[in-house]
Amino acid sequence: MTLAIYPGSFNPVTNGHLDISRRAARLFDTVIMAVFDRPNKSLIFSTAERLEMLRTAVRGLPNVRAESYTELTVAYARQRGATAIVRGLRTAADFEYEFQMSQINQTLAPEIDYVTLMSDHKYTFVSSSMVRELASYGADISWIVPPHVEAALRHVYKNKTV
Ligand code: ADP
Repeated sequence: MTLAIYPGSFNPVTNGHLDISRRAARLFDTVIMAVFDRPNKSLIFSTAERLEMLRTAVRGLPNVRAESYTELTVAYARQRGATAIVRGLRTAADFEYEFQMSQINQTLAPEIDYVTLMSDHKYTFVSSSMVRELASYGADISWIVPPHVEAALRHVYKNKTV
């Protein structure tokens, strides 16, 4: 049985993240999308909210589940018995960061492979921060997030003036 974890902030989950998880689900028996509790980023959703949105988003994917974690990613991956850590690549800018992370993680846990996947071209420019910005201006985000995430973002920004 092969198990991969796909860690991230998922603040919030987008169709780009889900595209990567669908691809990973074809390669591994089980994929755990793992919400990191304390990313070095400003968050508009709590860990519980990010996890709940992720759980709803992966309901239709039988071998994908969502969890949250607080420890070092490789420690969490080891504890789950993962053989791989999955990440997504959009542009060369992502590559620089992911390459550095792969070197660190593979040094700390040589038995866990770092696998990067490319999403469909429709999602190359999609990021959680872009989704949040579009939502804050009331722009259409239905093409880049699941309906329940769109509703949550509308709720967050409904009282903000644009
Ligand atoms: P992090 O804070 O760990 O970067 P994110 O939630 O922003 O967490 O992203 C998690 C992973 O998903 C990262 O590897 C990121 O590059 C990847 N990712 C995010 N959006 C997309 C997308 N639209 N297409 C492909 N990969 C993506």
